Amino acid sequence: MTSATSMPATFDVQRVRADFPLLARSVHGKPLVYLDNANTSQKPLAVIEAMNTHYREHNANVSRAVHQLGEEATAAYEGTRDKLARFINAPSRNELILTSGTTQATNLVAYSYALPRLKPGDAILTTVMEHHANIVPWQLVAARGGATVKAAPISERGELIVEKYLDMLTPEVKLACVTHVSNVLGTVNPVREIAKECRRRGIPLLVDGSQAVPHRPVDVQALGCDFYAFTGHKMLAPTGTGALWARREHLEAMPPFFGGGEMIREVRFSGTTFAAPPHKFEAGTPNIAGFVGMAAAIDYYQSLGFEAIHAWEQQLLAYATERLREIPGLRIVGEAAEKEPVISFLIDGAQATDLATLLDLEGVAVRSGHHCAHPLMQFYGVPSTLRASLAFYNTREEIDAFIAALLKVRQLLR
Ligand code: PLP
Repeated sequence: MTSATSMPATFDVQRVRADFPLLARSVHGKPLVYLDNANTSQKPLAVIEAMNTHYREHNANVSRAVHQLGEEATAAYEGTRDKLARFINAPSRNELILTSGTTQATNLVAYSYALPRLKPGDAILTTVMEHHANIVPWQLVAARGGATVKAAPISERGELIVEKYLDMLTPEVKLACVTHVSNVLGTVNPVREIAKECRRRGIPLLVDGSQAVPHRPVDVQALGCDFYAFTGHKMLAPTGTGALWARREHLEAMPPFFGGGEMIREVRFSGTTFAAPPHKFEAGTPNIAGFVGMAAAIDYYQSLGFEAIHAWEQQLLAYATERLREIPGLRIVGEAAEKEPVISFLIDGAQATDLATLLDLEGVAVRSGHHCAHPLMQFYGVPSTLRASLAFYNTREEIDAFIAALLKVRQLLR
């Protein structure tokens, strides 16, 4: 974390905020302070307008029509694939499957990659800090294949115990999984180091990038993983968009998961042949307008630049952490050395849900609950935490408003 006292002069947050119409609204008569960005981000006008323009001027189905509109819609949809491939530095656009989000991506890998390979005694390795989307799909296919799911431990500070993870990469592990950034703790995991060891042992690695892609440049080739899954709605794009990047050799060996239109070469009752990747994995009509919006989201990130975004967010994270630490009886859950701007915390004598409900009445949107991470809550021995998650459009003044509201509502609960 950088010092909270010196904000970079170059990041014009007020200009950025003007691009997000929703940030100007009030809630319960108070100016909105939106600190639930790890749940879903707000959308800039450029994304909203791109989707509008698509429906007003270009709407048609993709890949099926030879008419002008069909060609325009197909070009836009496939253009997003090109953009996404460059965004995460995928070696080829054909290695990028467009999905409805991370959940569809991990399920695709579970059923299409893992299940056919699992035999009794095999295992899938994940970690204690994962979102359920990086646990439950593995449990479902492990149960079918007679395999087990193992979870690597974390420290009290919320850091993955990397040596333990690497020790657990034993020969029966057929797939290793890890989140790039924890949605609860903000912890950034050392994916490169893990990937290097997985490669040495011939174990493919899946990385859940849902909470990384909104905050930092991702280069899947430099990371060295085999699968990288992420979701669009946390990175300024519409809900129902996301992607799975996978190495070509895996995609070629994987059978399709969903069957239907768009994913075939020829259908006969004597047997069907399939399209090449990525289309083999994209049955049915996709969320075309959503992916048009996703392209605009990527352009938006690139217009700001991740260097500026990261610097600003780290300043906000440091400031919010510092302010929260001033509150007696407040405990931050997750104090890793390297974090993205997500802060979970607990306050003595107050239920997280009560606090979140009262904060809402003050115009402050934070999340309370288990954050789809039951095993992590079990590790900390709590049913829930409060989570403030920041984005580059948040301000220091919003953090002040959040802290003031928190002090006020805590008083009410005493
Ligand atoms: N993985 C992580 C780390 C997440 O934070 C989330 C969403 O909260 C998901 C996976 C699931 O994403 P989606 O619901 O968009 O599929």
